[in-house]
Amino acid sequence: MYRLSKAILLGGILLFSCSWGFFAHQKINRLSVFILPPEMIGFYKKNIQYIAETAVNPDRRRYAVADEAPRHYIDLDDYGDSAAYKLPRYWKDAVEKYGEDSLQAHGIVPWHVYRMYFQLKEAFTIRDPDRILRLSAELGHYVSDAHVPLHTTSNYDGQQTGQSGIHGFWESRLPELYFGEYDFFVGKAEYIKNVQLAMWQVIATTAQKKDSVLLIEKRLFEKEGSKKFNFETKGRQTVKVVSEEYARQYHQLLNGMVERQLRASIKMTGSIWYTAWIDAGQPDLKALINYRPTEEELKKRKEELLLWKQQTQKAREHEHEEN
Ligand SMILES: [Zn+2]
Repeated sequence: MYRLSKAILLGGILLFSCSWGFFAHQKINRLSVFILPPEMIGFYKKNIQYIAETAVNPDRRRYAVADEAPRHYIDLDDYGDSAAYKLPRYWKDAVEKYGEDSLQAHGIVPWHVYRMYFQLKEAFTIRDPDRILRLSAELGHYVSDAHVPLHTTSNYDGQQTGQSGIHGFWESRLPELYFGEYDFFVGKAEYIKNVQLAMWQVIATTAQKKDSVLLIEKRLFEKEGSKKFNFETKGRQTVKVVSEEYARQYHQLLNGMVERQLRASIKMTGSIWYTAWIDAGQPDLKALINYRPTEEELKKRKEELLLWKQQTQKAREHEHEEN
């Protein structure tokens, strides 16, 4: 998630990172590999490092790709009551009703995941290992973002309720602190009859949690606000972080929500990979097991990363000057 980028550097104080955090995104992709069936797991395991690393590419290219940002969220509240149930299920119908610009302005994550599922299915059909891996990894990112309650509201960082910073607190700080305590046994990947409808179910379930995420923190802050922040020194920077004591209390009050959302992200990611493979006619992935990226592919990946890094740096410097 990156609408937060502007808030990242405030007077040189790093307040929070963005999107489930690089850490959680990489873990989700990695763990999703292990729920795959025997016909798939060998190929994915062999490339697990790349699948984990590439999980965060959608966040990395924020400043290089103009249409990137809306793919990570949907501001349901912009559409009125029960939007998760009332919005057109399919992109074509949604465009007809609202127009593409308006949809882009409010975020498109459930439709984008469905588009990516199709692309992945295609990649399986033509047995293109490079595309299968890249699309699998990136699909995992968007599926996971759809499980973050604050990715379903225009109050995505608590900025409308005096809770700025809650986005990174919930999706980065908490998983980083408590990941080791979670149980990630989620069973096997399951076939999904209709990926688009399943994604709307995900969005509806995720959105239901949004009020708790905000309200619970608000009440906690009223009681324990003075304990909320600590300063840590990292290199030459002073970093303002949510204190572990405050984080622990919030985490307990959320009663397993972060863990549940991480688990659901893993289950859904692996299940969509599996579904795309089934729907492509179960191509033989063992035949791709010896795949190595060509020199050219490797060079392209490197250049892409470098370009995104430069663009990000430039954009941040620019924002910094504006602040
Ligand atoms: Zn994201």
